This record gives sequence, structure tokens and C-alpha cells, in this order.
Amino acid sequence: MTEAPMDPHSSPEHDWALETLAIRAGHDRTHEQEHAEPIFPTSSFVYGSAAEAARKFSGEEPGNVYSRFTNPTVRTFERRLAALEGGERCVATSSGMSAILATVLALLEAGDEIVASRSLFGSTVSLFDKYLGKFGITTRYVELSDLAAWEAAITPATRLLFAETPSNPLSEVVDIAALAEISHRHGAWLAIDNCFLTPSLQRPLALGADLVIHSATKYLDGQGRAVGGAVVGRDKELEEIFGVVRTCGPCLSPFNAWIFTKGLETLTLRMRAHCDNAQRLSEWLEAHPAVSRVYYSGLPSHPQHALAARQQQGFGAVLGFEVEGGREAAWSVIDATRLLSITGNLGDVKTTITHPATTTHGRLSDDQKAIAGIHEGLIRVAVGLEAIDDIRADLARGLDALI
Ligand SMILES: *Cc1c(COP(=O)(O)O)cnc(C)c1O
Repeated sequence: MTEAPMDPHSSPEHDWALETLAIRAGHDRTHEQEHAEPIFPTSSFVYGSAAEAARKFSGEEPGNVYSRFTNPTVRTFERRLAALEGGERCVATSSGMSAILATVLALLEAGDEIVASRSLFGSTVSLFDKYLGKFGITTRYVELSDLAAWEAAITPATRLLFAETPSNPLSEVVDIAALAEISHRHGAWLAIDNCFLTPSLQRPLALGADLVIHSATKYLDGQGRAVGGAVVGRDKELEEIFGVVRTCGPCLSPFNAWIFTKGLETLTLRMRAHCDNAQRLSEWLEAHPAVSRVYYSGLPSHPQHALAARQQQGFGAVLGFEVEGGREAAWSVIDATRLLSITGNLGDVKTTITHPATTTHGRLSDDQKAIAGIHEGLIRVAVGLEAIDDIRADLARGLDALI
């Protein structure tokens, strides 16, 4: 809020580059001197004496008590992700949604308001409207890239600004530094959902955001094996968020934490390869006669290409494109694929394809879809790491048939 911006080099491994942190940060070897990070599948921990138990329970002496509170495998993941995002502390959660839930439960109370981008993940909108609404917390939605609209929606009761950038599936971008300035001028926190780019391509805390939210289910794992989440930021706010997780129980399992820790080791390499494939696919789509429009911030034709290039270290791998002929045409392209997975998921080495208007955004009314730019001819592809020629060939089958 009014504190000085967080020191992005506050982690003990401050001299290391991102690639090194992703592989090395957060693991203190046990007395076994293991090379790879161990898993501790244990619910609880024991003590050498009653006095030691008393000190650990009271917090007088640091240490593990119960895996709903802390677990060494979970801590390794938290420390590694905190180092990558340049945050003082990370709290891992059972899913991306519980990361958002723990954040709002910790920081907000009845009467507080949220201002959020309109193009949010669907369950985030349900959480804000259907559940937080029951407890007297209200949310206003604004166009992601329109800074004046953000500022106009803020009232004295606004405590949190919440944005997902770039947006899904139209790849719209907000200027994080400018939004942080607006947020702090009004005494509100800025939380950025960084699922689509990961710290490998975007570090919101260094740009002035107060909190970073992750669904680890996506690129942090990267191979579709587990559900989990995390919040990263300053000690002050994260201690409150930790309190919610510890008390209410949406903690991450040690098994999933281990998967995410190992997933992070290849994060920088994977994200670079994801971006490469997405760039090449978007350029090919833009030149295809059956495609009327491509939404990808890596294309010079994207209205916010310059901002994305300045703020991000890459353009990510989620893109949208439109075909003429509405739903029927879009479905025919999707149904002609043999390699791509038809699924709403993303952030996976396997390329996925979906029709947003009838899946991820299917619950929006026709008016809401029109405002959000979710047309019937729109297709979303989350580009994976298969050979680009095979991905193109799989889409060409349906697209060529439309000409
Ligand atoms: C998937 C996703 C979430 C929710 O994460 P879960 O792990 O599914 O709970 C939140 N935000 C974005 C942008 C997502 O893609």
C-alpha cells in the first residue's frame, strides 16, 4: 500500500539469474545429503521433549507442527516461487481459486469493494459475485486496458484492485506500473493473476504490484499433473494470508508441492519454447485466408504490442483467432483436429483448443459476450511444445476446408 516498493532482490539467492533460481532456490538439504528435493508425506511432526513441543506450538521456536500449517516439501516450493517472483514470501494453496479466496478473506471485510478487470477467469468472477457478495463485499468490473475506467470505478471503500494480464483469450494487456500507481494513490492493494506469463515472462512485484496470484495447475507444473496455487508478496500481507490457509485449511499437499517444485526447474526453458511456437503459429494464422483476425500480443498488429513488449519478457502462448461463419465454422476447425486436445485447460506441453463462447465463457449472456469480444467464430489455442509443423498441419485441415 504506502510502503516503499518491494526489494526484488530480497531473497537470499539474490545474485542468481531466474534460470538458476528455478532450479536451485529453496532447497536446504537434509542430513541425508540428497541431490533432488525430497517429499515429506507426513501429516504431523514429533518432538524430543514436552518443552520442545511447547516452544514449537507457541511459535517461540521455528519448526513444523502440522502439515495444514507448514510442511518442508511445500516450503521448498514456496521459497522457490517467492525467489522467482522477487517476493518476500509465498504461501502455497490447494488450487489457484483457493489462493484468490485466501487473499480476499485475509485482506477484506464487509463493506469493502474490489475493482477488477472484466476479462477475468470465470470462477474468479463467481467467487467475487456469488460468494463475496453474500458477505457484503462488492466488485465492479472495468475494461482491463482502460486506466481511466479503473480510476473512475474506485471509491473510498475500494481496498483491492485485481487484474489478469494478459487477458484470456484476447491477449489484452494493462500497464501494471500505471495501475499500481493508481491503486496506491487510493490506498488499495494491487493483485495480479500471473498465470498466463509466470515469473519467467512477467514479474508484477517489480512493477509495483503488491500481490501475485498463481494457479500452479497451469505453467508452473506445465504438464497437467496436479492442481495447486500460490500467493506471493510482502511478509506483512502474506502473514495474514497464511493465517487463513492455516486456519481454514486450503493447504497444498506435499505430493503436489513436489510436482510443482520439479516443474519450476524447466519453467524458463518451457516458457521460451511456448512463446516461440505461439509466435510462429500466430504469424501463420494471420496469413491464412480463412482467418479474419488473430489476437496475440506478440504480433505487431496487436494494439498493445508495444506495451506488452516493454512490460513482459515474452508474449506467452495463449492466443485467439476468428474465422468467418460463426459457431459452425469454428466447431468444424476444432473437430478436424487429431493432435490437439479439445479442452478448456491451458498451460501444458500438450496444445489445447477450445471454443470460448460455448465452453470457458459459455455462462456469459449474449450481451456480456459481445462486450467481452467473445464472438461465435472465436477459437482459443494454448500452444504447447509439439513440433510447430504438426500443430500447424492439425489446424490447416479444418481451416483449408473453410476457403
Ligand atoms: C486456472 C486459473 C485459475 C484458477 O486456478 P485453479 O488451479 O483451477 O483453481 C485462476 N486464474 C487463471 C488465470 C486461471 O487460468
